[in-house]
Amino acid sequence: MANIFHPWEGTVKPFKIFGNLYFVGTIPASTHLIDTGDGLIIIDPGYPQSLYIVTENMHELGFSPKDIKYIVITHGHYDHLGAARALVELTGAKTFISKEDAPYADGSVDLTWAKELNTVYHEAFTPDVLLSDGDTVKLGNTEILCKSAPGHTPGTMAFFFNVTDGKRTLRAAMHGGVGRNSMTREFLDKYGLSTEAREKFVPAIDAMIDEHVDIHLGNHVGNNDTVGKSKLITDDFNPFIDDTAWKKFLTLTKEKYFEMIKKETEDATGE
Ligand SMILES: [Zn+2]
Repeated sequence: MANIFHPWEGTVKPFKIFGNLYFVGTIPASTHLIDTGDGLIIIDPGYPQSLYIVTENMHELGFSPKDIKYIVITHGHYDHLGAARALVELTGAKTFISKEDAPYADGSVDLTWAKELNTVYHEAFTPDVLLSDGDTVKLGNTEILCKSAPGHTPGTMAFFFNVTDGKRTLRAAMHGGVGRNSMTREFLDKYGLSTEAREKFVPAIDAMIDEHVDIHLGNHVGNNDTVGKSKLITDDFNPFIDDTAWKKFLTLTKEKYFEMIKKETEDATGE
């Protein structure tokens, strides 16, 4: 039997990460919600096939999907933007993605990774706002700083923003795509892509690794042990608040990238 694609498998109890920031995603695809006080921002709506879980999770936390005003997307892959079209149809929300990854969203290039998942990207949409390095997305009490983080896709972005519980304000950040699967020589060759984007991967990380970040967010649950940490939150302890996690994660990410390059070089020279 062919690999059957079941993005709805792997639900997570939705929860408050801190203050006005929530996790409403699934194991296969992280979705974050920011309550700005003047409408909701969704970061990465996830797969179209599991959007109903995201909207159900929102209801469980007392939010209405109708209050979503902005959908901000880390990069142009199916597991992050696949549900955007349906969510726009439901809410009329504005969509934001980097200008480099906009052709993934509108379907003008077939690089959303849907094919690798044995599915088809049927949910193309025209993004409302095309982001560039240094742009900010503002709504209510929230201002998201967008930084270019190319490599995983040419237009992957990292997001930095403050979150607050009314007493404390903390800095949260997410690198929008660290998977090496779309940076391997094999993948690039298969689609006739150059190594240009991946060559920017480490320099872009170096440009953000020393930012002060209190809460490191993952756009996949494995990046920050989202699920494990969610179970440890108590009134007195929040494992998401850790100002060393961001730098540790990016350091490890660079190491894994260098391992990939080393292996490619060894394979090429037959060592
Ligand atoms: Zn991706």
